[in-house]
Amino acid sequence: MQEIVRVVDLKKYYEIYDAKARQSKFVKAVDGISFSIHQGETLGLVGESGSGKTTTGKLILNLIKPTSGEIFLEGKSLSSLNHKEMRELRKSIQVVFQNPYAALDPKMTIRDILTEPLSIHKIVSKYDYNNEVKRLLNMVGLSESDMDKFPHEFSGGQRQRIGIAKAIAVKPKFIICDEPVSALDVSVQSQILNLLCELQREIKVSYLFIAHGLNVIRHVSDKVAVMYLGNIVEYGDVKTVFDECKHPYTKALISSAPIPDPNRRNNTIALKDEIPSPINVPDGCPFHPRCYEASDICKNKKPFLMNVSSSHAVACHLTYS
Ligand code: SF4
Repeated sequence: MQEIVRVVDLKKYYEIYDAKARQSKFVKAVDGISFSIHQGETLGLVGESGSGKTTTGKLILNLIKPTSGEIFLEGKSLSSLNHKEMRELRKSIQVVFQNPYAALDPKMTIRDILTEPLSIHKIVSKYDYNNEVKRLLNMVGLSESDMDKFPHEFSGGQRQRIGIAKAIAVKPKFIICDEPVSALDVSVQSQILNLLCELQREIKVSYLFIAHGLNVIRHVSDKVAVMYLGNIVEYGDVKTVFDECKHPYTKALISSAPIPDPNRRNNTIALKDEIPSPINVPDGCPFHPRCYEASDICKNKKPFLMNVSSSHAVACHLTYS
Protein backbone atom coordinates (compact mmCIF):
# COMPACT_ATOMS: atom_id res chain seq x y z
CA MET A 1 0.00 0.00 0.00
CA GLN A 2 1.21 3.46 -0.90
CA GLU A 3 2.29 5.68 1.98
CA ILE A 4 0.06 8.78 1.99
CA VAL A 5 1.25 10.66 5.09
CA ARG A 6 4.55 10.48 6.97
CA VAL A 7 5.22 12.63 10.02
CA VAL A 8 8.83 12.71 11.24
CA ASP A 9 9.93 14.03 14.66
CA LEU A 10 7.31 16.78 14.52
CA LYS A 11 7.44 19.50 17.19
CA LYS A 12 5.31 22.53 17.88
CA TYR A 13 6.45 24.78 20.72
CA TYR A 14 4.87 28.11 21.63
CA GLU A 15 6.95 30.69 23.47
CA ILE A 16 5.09 32.45 26.28
CA TYR A 17 6.13 34.86 29.02
CA ASP A 18 5.66 33.56 32.56
CA ALA A 19 5.11 36.76 34.58
CA LYS A 20 5.47 34.92 37.92
CA ALA A 21 8.82 33.38 37.04
CA ARG A 22 9.77 36.51 35.01
CA GLN A 23 11.04 34.43 32.13
CA SER A 24 10.01 33.00 28.80
CA LYS A 25 8.85 29.41 28.69
CA PHE A 26 7.93 27.01 25.94
CA VAL A 27 4.58 25.28 25.72
CA LYS A 28 5.38 21.92 24.12
CA ALA A 29 2.08 21.26 22.36
CA VAL A 30 3.63 18.55 20.18
CA ASP A 31 7.02 17.20 21.24
CA GLY A 32 8.63 15.03 18.60
CA ILE A 33 6.03 12.64 17.18
CA SER A 34 6.41 10.32 14.19
CA PHE A 35 3.90 8.11 12.37
CA SER A 36 2.80 7.07 8.91
CA ILE A 37 -0.56 6.37 7.27
CA HIS A 38 -0.97 4.25 4.14
CA GLN A 39 -3.65 4.32 1.46
CA GLY A 40 -7.05 3.21 2.70
CA GLU A 41 -5.82 3.05 6.30
CA THR A 42 -7.03 4.81 9.46
CA LEU A 43 -4.75 5.98 12.25
CA GLY A 44 -6.69 6.75 15.42
CA LEU A 45 -5.20 9.49 17.58
CA VAL A 46 -6.45 9.31 21.14
CA GLY A 47 -5.74 11.16 24.39
CA GLU A 48 -7.19 13.65 26.86
CA SER A 49 -7.70 17.37 26.08
CA GLY A 50 -4.31 19.06 25.95
CA SER A 51 -2.51 15.94 24.69
CA GLY A 52 -1.68 17.56 21.32
CA LYS A 53 -4.15 15.74 19.05
CA THR A 54 -5.76 18.82 17.52
CA THR A 55 -2.41 20.63 17.13
CA THR A 56 -1.17 17.59 15.18
CA GLY A 57 -4.19 17.89 12.85
CA LYS A 58 -3.57 21.62 12.33
CA LEU A 59 0.11 21.00 11.53
CA ILE A 60 -0.78 18.43 8.86
CA LEU A 61 -3.36 20.81 7.40
CA ASN A 62 -0.57 23.44 7.29
CA LEU A 63 -2.76 25.84 9.31
CA ILE A 64 0.21 26.31 11.67
CA LYS A 65 3.94 25.86 11.03
CA PRO A 66 5.95 23.28 12.95
CA THR A 67 8.85 24.35 15.18
CA SER A 68 10.80 21.47 13.64
CA GLY A 69 10.27 18.12 11.97
CA GLU A 70 8.79 17.18 8.62
CA ILE A 71 5.42 16.23 7.18
CA PHE A 72 5.39 14.34 3.89
CA LEU A 73 2.28 13.93 1.78
CA GLU A 74 2.71 11.28 -0.92
CA GLY A 75 6.46 11.64 -0.46
CA LYS A 76 6.54 15.44 -0.84
CA SER A 77 7.68 17.51 2.12
CA LEU A 78 5.10 20.21 2.91
CA SER A 79 7.92 22.59 3.92
CA SER A 80 9.42 22.43 0.41
CA LEU A 81 6.26 23.49 -1.44
CA ASN A 82 5.59 26.97 -2.78
CA HIS A 83 2.20 28.66 -2.39
CA LYS A 84 0.79 27.35 -5.68
CA GLU A 85 1.94 23.77 -5.02
CA MET A 86 0.53 23.96 -1.49
CA ARG A 87 -2.86 25.07 -2.81
CA GLU A 88 -2.86 22.19 -5.25
CA LEU A 89 -1.89 19.76 -2.50
CA ARG A 90 -4.58 21.07 -0.14
CA LYS A 91 -7.09 19.44 -2.45
CA SER A 92 -5.69 16.07 -1.35
CA ILE A 93 -6.24 16.82 2.35
CA GLN A 94 -9.72 17.51 3.67
CA VAL A 95 -11.20 17.75 7.13
CA VAL A 96 -14.45 16.67 8.77
CA PHE A 97 -15.11 18.84 11.80
CA GLN A 98 -16.60 18.09 15.21
CA ASN A 99 -19.39 20.64 14.76
CA PRO A 100 -20.88 20.15 11.30
CA TYR A 101 -23.18 23.16 11.65
CA ALA A 102 -20.27 25.58 12.15
CA ALA A 103 -18.58 24.17 9.04
CA LEU A 104 -21.59 24.84 6.76
CA ASP A 105 -22.55 28.36 5.62
CA PRO A 106 -26.14 28.80 6.88
CA LYS A 107 -27.01 31.12 3.95
CA MET A 108 -26.05 28.60 1.27
CA THR A 109 -28.19 25.74 -0.01
CA ILE A 110 -26.73 22.24 0.02
CA ARG A 111 -26.45 22.46 -3.77
CA ASP A 112 -24.25 25.59 -3.45
CA ILE A 113 -22.23 24.18 -0.55
CA LEU A 114 -21.32 21.08 -2.57
CA THR A 115 -20.88 22.92 -5.88
CA GLU A 116 -18.32 25.33 -4.40
CA PRO A 117 -15.44 22.81 -4.01
CA LEU A 118 -16.29 21.25 -7.39
CA SER A 119 -15.90 24.63 -9.05
CA ILE A 120 -12.85 25.90 -7.07
CA HIS A 121 -10.86 22.74 -7.74
CA LYS A 122 -12.33 22.11 -11.23
CA ILE A 123 -13.37 18.58 -10.33
CA VAL A 124 -16.03 18.29 -13.07
CA SER A 125 -17.27 20.56 -15.86
CA LYS A 126 -19.95 23.06 -14.85
CA TYR A 127 -22.49 21.13 -16.93
CA ASP A 128 -21.97 18.17 -14.60
CA TYR A 129 -22.30 20.02 -11.27
CA ASN A 130 -25.89 18.92 -10.78
CA ASN A 131 -25.23 15.23 -11.38
CA GLU A 132 -22.12 15.29 -9.22
CA VAL A 133 -24.00 16.90 -6.30
CA LYS A 134 -26.71 14.23 -6.61
CA ARG A 135 -24.02 11.52 -6.66
CA LEU A 136 -22.32 12.93 -3.55
CA LEU A 137 -25.63 13.17 -1.66
CA ASN A 138 -26.37 9.61 -2.64
CA MET A 139 -22.97 8.43 -1.41
CA VAL A 140 -23.60 9.86 2.06
CA GLY A 141 -27.17 8.56 2.33
CA LEU A 142 -29.07 11.77 1.50
CA SER A 143 -31.48 12.36 -1.35
CA GLU A 144 -31.43 14.74 -4.32
CA SER A 145 -34.63 16.26 -2.93
CA ASP A 146 -32.38 17.72 -0.19
CA MET A 147 -30.36 19.82 -2.66
CA ASP A 148 -32.24 23.08 -2.26
CA LYS A 149 -32.58 22.99 1.51
CA PHE A 150 -30.45 25.01 3.95
CA PRO A 151 -28.28 23.51 6.72
CA HIS A 152 -30.72 24.46 9.51
CA GLU A 153 -33.34 22.16 7.94
CA PHE A 154 -31.25 19.08 8.78
CA SER A 155 -30.56 17.12 11.97
CA GLY A 156 -27.04 16.98 13.46
CA GLY A 157 -26.35 13.59 11.86
CA GLN A 158 -27.59 14.76 8.44
CA ARG A 159 -25.40 17.89 8.68
CA GLN A 160 -22.41 15.69 9.39
CA ARG A 161 -23.31 13.68 6.27
CA ILE A 162 -23.26 16.95 4.29
CA GLY A 163 -19.89 17.83 5.85
CA ILE A 164 -18.57 14.43 4.74
CA ALA A 165 -20.00 14.93 1.22
CA LYS A 166 -18.18 18.30 1.05
CA ALA A 167 -14.92 16.66 2.14
CA ILE A 168 -15.09 13.85 -0.44
CA ALA A 169 -16.25 16.20 -3.25
CA VAL A 170 -12.64 16.99 -4.24
CA LYS A 171 -11.61 13.31 -4.27
CA PRO A 172 -9.07 13.64 -1.46
CA LYS A 173 -6.39 11.08 -0.63
CA PHE A 174 -6.53 11.91 3.06
CA ILE A 175 -9.17 13.21 5.50
CA ILE A 176 -8.62 14.43 9.04
CA CYS A 177 -11.70 13.47 11.06
CA ASP A 178 -11.53 15.78 14.09
CA GLU A 179 -13.89 14.25 16.68
CA PRO A 180 -16.57 13.88 13.96
CA VAL A 181 -19.15 12.15 16.17
CA SER A 182 -18.57 13.64 19.62
CA ALA A 183 -21.22 16.37 19.11
CA LEU A 184 -23.84 13.86 17.90
CA ASP A 185 -26.44 11.82 19.77
CA VAL A 186 -25.18 8.36 20.67
CA SER A 187 -27.94 6.88 18.50
CA VAL A 188 -26.50 8.43 15.31
CA GLN A 189 -22.80 8.14 16.13
CA SER A 190 -22.51 4.57 14.86
CA GLN A 191 -24.35 5.47 11.63
CA ILE A 192 -21.77 8.18 10.87
CA LEU A 193 -18.86 5.90 11.82
CA ASN A 194 -20.24 3.16 9.55
CA LEU A 195 -20.64 5.70 6.73
CA LEU A 196 -16.99 6.79 7.09
CA CYS A 197 -15.86 3.14 7.01
CA GLU A 198 -18.03 2.36 3.93
CA LEU A 199 -16.69 5.41 2.08
CA GLN A 200 -13.14 4.39 2.92
CA ARG A 201 -13.69 0.97 1.35
CA GLU A 202 -15.27 2.60 -1.72
CA ILE A 203 -12.84 5.44 -2.44
CA LYS A 204 -9.70 4.13 -0.65
CA VAL A 205 -9.24 7.36 1.31
CA SER A 206 -6.96 7.43 4.39
CA TYR A 207 -8.08 8.92 7.71
CA LEU A 208 -6.42 10.48 10.70
CA PHE A 209 -9.20 9.94 13.22
CA ILE A 210 -8.96 12.17 16.31
CA ALA A 211 -11.11 11.16 19.27
CA HIS A 212 -11.35 11.10 23.05
CA GLY A 213 -13.32 7.89 23.11
CA LEU A 214 -11.40 4.64 22.86
CA ASN A 215 -14.46 2.67 21.77
CA VAL A 216 -14.81 4.93 18.72
CA ILE A 217 -11.10 4.57 17.90
CA ARG A 218 -11.32 0.79 18.18
CA HIS A 219 -14.31 0.70 15.83
CA VAL A 220 -12.72 2.67 12.98
CA SER A 221 -8.93 2.40 13.21
CA ASP A 222 -6.28 0.08 11.76
CA LYS A 223 -3.54 1.63 13.89
CA VAL A 224 -3.68 3.72 17.02
CA ALA A 225 -1.40 6.36 18.56
CA VAL A 226 -2.01 7.23 22.22
CA MET A 227 -0.90 10.80 22.98
CA TYR A 228 0.02 12.30 26.34
CA LEU A 229 1.33 15.87 26.78
CA GLY A 230 2.50 16.19 23.18
CA ASN A 231 4.14 12.73 23.02
CA ILE A 232 3.05 9.42 21.53
CA VAL A 233 3.30 6.98 24.43
CA GLU A 234 1.97 3.86 22.68
CA TYR A 235 1.60 3.13 18.96
CA GLY A 236 0.68 0.08 16.96
CA ASP A 237 -1.96 -2.10 15.31
CA VAL A 238 -5.30 -1.45 16.93
CA LYS A 239 -5.80 -5.06 18.01
CA THR A 240 -2.32 -5.32 19.55
CA VAL A 241 -2.62 -2.03 21.42
CA PHE A 242 -6.05 -2.91 22.82
CA ASP A 243 -5.34 -6.57 23.61
CA GLU A 244 -1.72 -6.29 24.75
CA CYS A 245 -1.39 -2.67 25.88
CA LYS A 246 1.75 -2.01 27.89
CA HIS A 247 1.78 1.67 28.80
CA PRO A 248 0.15 2.46 32.17
CA TYR A 249 -1.69 5.45 30.62
CA THR A 250 -3.18 3.31 27.82
CA LYS A 251 -4.19 0.71 30.41
CA ALA A 252 -5.98 3.41 32.41
CA LEU A 253 -7.76 4.76 29.32
CA ILE A 254 -8.90 1.29 28.27
CA SER A 255 -10.04 0.45 31.78
CA SER A 256 -12.22 3.57 31.93
CA ALA A 257 -13.92 3.03 28.53
CA PRO A 258 -17.59 2.01 28.92
CA ILE A 259 -18.37 -1.67 28.23
CA PRO A 260 -21.67 -2.22 26.38
CA ASP A 261 -22.22 -5.64 28.01
CA PRO A 262 -24.06 -5.11 31.39
CA ASN A 263 -22.79 -8.51 32.64
CA ARG A 264 -19.15 -7.47 32.31
CA ARG A 265 -17.46 -4.95 34.56
CA ASN A 266 -14.32 -2.94 34.00
CA ASN A 267 -11.67 -2.81 36.70
CA THR A 268 -11.21 0.91 36.28
CA ILE A 269 -7.72 2.25 36.96
CA ALA A 270 -8.25 5.67 38.52
CA LEU A 271 -5.53 8.19 37.69
CA LYS A 272 -4.38 10.82 40.16
CA ASP A 273 -5.17 14.44 39.34
CA GLU A 274 -5.76 16.00 35.92
CA ILE A 275 -3.36 16.05 32.98
CA PRO A 276 -0.78 18.80 33.79
CA SER A 277 -0.58 21.97 31.70
CA PRO A 278 1.76 21.68 28.69
CA ILE A 279 3.47 24.84 30.10
CA ASN A 280 4.79 22.75 32.99
CA VAL A 281 5.60 19.36 31.56
CA PRO A 282 7.14 17.25 34.37
CA ASP A 283 10.80 16.21 34.04
CA GLY A 284 11.54 12.59 33.24
CA CYS A 285 8.50 10.65 32.07
CA PRO A 286 5.75 13.27 31.54
CA PHE A 287 3.24 10.80 32.98
CA HIS A 288 5.13 10.04 36.21
CA PRO A 289 3.14 12.29 38.64
CA ARG A 290 -0.01 10.33 37.75
CA CYS A 291 1.50 6.92 37.13
CA TYR A 292 0.65 4.06 39.50
CA GLU A 293 3.77 2.16 38.39
CA ALA A 294 6.34 4.97 38.61
CA SER A 295 9.79 4.32 40.09
CA ASP A 296 12.76 6.63 40.73
CA ILE A 297 14.10 6.48 37.18
CA CYS A 298 10.76 7.79 35.89
CA LYS A 299 11.28 11.14 37.65
CA ASN A 300 14.62 11.83 35.95
CA LYS A 301 14.78 10.07 32.61
CA LYS A 302 12.33 10.48 29.75
CA PRO A 303 11.44 7.14 28.10
CA PHE A 304 11.42 7.16 24.31
CA LEU A 305 9.11 5.24 22.01
CA MET A 306 10.75 1.87 21.34
CA ASN A 307 9.53 -1.14 19.40
CA VAL A 308 8.39 -4.06 21.52
CA SER A 309 7.39 -5.97 18.35
CA SER A 310 7.18 -5.20 14.64
CA SER A 311 3.70 -3.72 15.07
CA HIS A 312 3.89 -2.20 18.55
CA ALA A 313 5.93 0.57 20.20
CA VAL A 314 5.82 1.87 23.78
CA ALA A 315 7.46 4.76 25.68
CA CYS A 316 7.82 3.39 29.20
CA HIS A 317 10.84 2.32 31.27
CA LEU A 318 8.96 -0.79 32.39
CA THR A 319 9.07 -2.19 28.87
CA TYR A 320 12.90 -1.85 28.64
CA SER A 321 13.65 -3.72 31.84
FE1 SF4 B 1 4.90 5.13 34.49
FE2 SF4 B 1 7.55 5.21 34.61
FE3 SF4 B 1 6.37 4.02 32.56
FE4 SF4 B 1 6.29 6.66 32.81
S1 SF4 B 1 8.11 5.42 32.46
S2 SF4 B 1 4.62 5.34 32.28
S3 SF4 B 1 6.14 6.88 35.01
S4 SF4 B 1 6.29 3.37 34.70
